[in-house]
Formats: sequence, C-alpha cells, structure tokens
Amino acid sequence: MIWDHMATERSPHQASGSDQHKRLVVGWFSFTCCEDSTILFTELLNDHLDEWKKVMEFRHMKALKTNNSLSGLDVAFIEGAISSESQANEVRQIRENAKYVVAIGACACTGQPSTSRNQFVSEQLNERIRWYLGHFDYGKEVKSLGEVIEVDDMVRGCPMKVTSFLQTLEKYLYLFDVAQHV
Ligand code: SF4
Repeated sequence: MIWDHMATERSPHQASGSDQHKRLVVGWFSFTCCEDSTILFTELLNDHLDEWKKVMEFRHMKALKTNNSLSGLDVAFIEGAISSESQANEVRQIRENAKYVVAIGACACTGQPSTSRNQFVSEQLNERIRWYLGHFDYGKEVKSLGEVIEVDDMVRGCPMKVTSFLQTLEKYLYLFDVAQHV
C-alpha cells in the first residue's frame, strides 16, 4: 500500500474529506473493458445516491463529471485490463495517489476476457487485427491490474457482482470510520 504525504500524518482509518463530517474520498476508473461495471455502479446511484453523498466524495468519476482529481484518494476502484504502457503509467499514478486500490470485474482481477488476444497465434493475426494493433496505443500483451500495480481487494464477476461490491464498499466505510453516517 502506498500512502500519500497527508496520509502519513493521519490515522490510516481516518478519511480525507474535510466537510462537516468525514467522507470517504473515492475514484472510479475504467481501462480496457466494456464498462459494464461502471454502468452497474451508475445504476446503483438510482437507489443509493442520497445516502452515498453523505458518506462519500466522488473525487474522480468521469461517468458523472468532467472536473476530476486524483489527489488524496482513499479508495480507487479500477475496472478493466491494462493493454498499453500509457495505461500502465496511468494506473501507477492512481496507485501513488490512493491509499487502497480495488480491482473491479474479471478484466481487472484476472485479465480475462480481455487477455484473450495474448493467445492469438500469428496466423490468426489477420489484416484487420493488425490494423487495430498498429493504429491504437496497444502493448504487446494485455495484463490484469495486479500484474501492473499492487491491488488490495478484488470484486470479481463479469460484470462485477453487485453484492460483493456493496460489501467491499461497506468494508472501507467502516475502515475509514465513516459508516456511522450512513
Ligand atoms: S469483466 Fe466482463 S463486464 Fe467487466 S469489463 Fe471485462 S468483459 Fe466487461
């Protein structure tokens, strides 16, 4: 686990929010994936937004807003496999700014199904596939999140199991001592 500068001066169980009461500062990120878990997360907001706004600050969430920041994240939820060096650099930056990282969905947890392309043999690399590999920022191999950065927790499933996500979220709300505000 990597602690930011501020975090080293706080209890590890103290959330970073500076509002009237403590809030869990979270980020949600998507890499190589179909973003089905992001869709599930936004669907959850239909039922939970009012309650979550009291206990969480969504500091980085491109699905919801354009003004985003990486600084001082308590928990970063990361969906998708890592398929290029630029993506690897981005997740390393997230790791440096987050106290905890949670891999969301099978692509982030295991690499599959996104890593299927690692098994292509050269005869299967037809013109069309070569075109994509040549015209986009793809690395030689697709990797799971854990192959690039340290991961603290995993929410498995394709897409993520919602009950498992809610349990993991609750775990961090308790860990950062903000659950009593739910
Ligand atoms: S784990 Fe499944 S649902 Fe999630 S991004 Fe990968 S393919 Fe899509």
